[in-house]
Amino acid sequence: MQKAPVQKTPVQKATPPRKAVVAPEKATAAVRGTPPAKTVAPEPPGNESRTALVRRARRINRELAEVYPYAHPELDFENPFQLLVATVLSAQTTDLRVNQTTPALFARYPTPEDLAAADPEEVEEILRPTGFFRAKTKSVMGLSRMLVEEFGGEVPDRLEDLVRLPGVGRKTAFVVLGNAFGRPGITVDTHFQRLVRRWKWTEETDPDKIEAAVGALFPKSEWTMLSHRVIFHGRRICHARKPACGACPIAPLCPAYGEGETDPEKAKKLLKYEKGGFPGQRLKPPQSYLDAGGRPAPPLGAG
Ligand code: SF4
Repeated sequence: MQKAPVQKTPVQKATPPRKAVVAPEKATAAVRGTPPAKTVAPEPPGNESRTALVRRARRINRELAEVYPYAHPELDFENPFQLLVATVLSAQTTDLRVNQTTPALFARYPTPEDLAAADPEEVEEILRPTGFFRAKTKSVMGLSRMLVEEFGGEVPDRLEDLVRLPGVGRKTAFVVLGNAFGRPGITVDTHFQRLVRRWKWTEETDPDKIEAAVGALFPKSEWTMLSHRVIFHGRRICHARKPACGACPIAPLCPAYGEGETDPEKAKKLLKYEKGGFPGQRLKPPQSYLDAGGRPAPPLGAG
């Protein structure tokens, strides 16, 4: 992944000096000795000009690209059908739980034809660990049927087709378009919503409006990776209840710095997944993640 040069702006001068961060352990070490100052917000967010907002948002994206050069979708998949099904299953549960469940599902029903013709009770049994397994069985069997009947057994690559499938909304459709078909898309999940509000990128609360507002801050080509980076950051450092501000590499750019733990040592203990030295969510993560010191998640029942 290419790194864009950091622009020299007044905000840059206000930030603590810091080197590029690549490895997880380095991310923590980089901030350990330089706790961010309280005066991190460049100006009161309400007074921030549009130009300053765009500049700050893009700098956050560049910083996140350095912190998470291995950012990726955290659902295991080998083809568009698997990603579509896994994304539908990920509602109301963790990607980890989905990743621990789908190997058995795809081993038994590898194609839309197989899943469309399955015994619902058998599918329910397999999907039970993901919660809401009856509704999810209906969705994945229903979408498989529609794929077979209307799309020749293939996952369509157009938004308007994808959102017609049972259980598939815009969020799921964008995940599939962005990661299975390389079409730029912004994924507004719970982490994305929380973080963009903390960063004052938008005051919108409706996911579609957030998607439009944030999309306007970045070139389209950044949308998919931006989504992964923001979600990675939300899962690992900027948690809902206790953000680890004292271990956060983008604290100097964050108006919400101080909402969480600011003591560097205490904050470090809050880090999750590879940032905290723990396994990730994917049983089969990309090589770039493993190269950066990340570890695969354990299979179901093993941890
Ligand atoms: S962890 Fe704290 S400083 Fe970092 S982005 Fe979240 S709220 Fe801002």
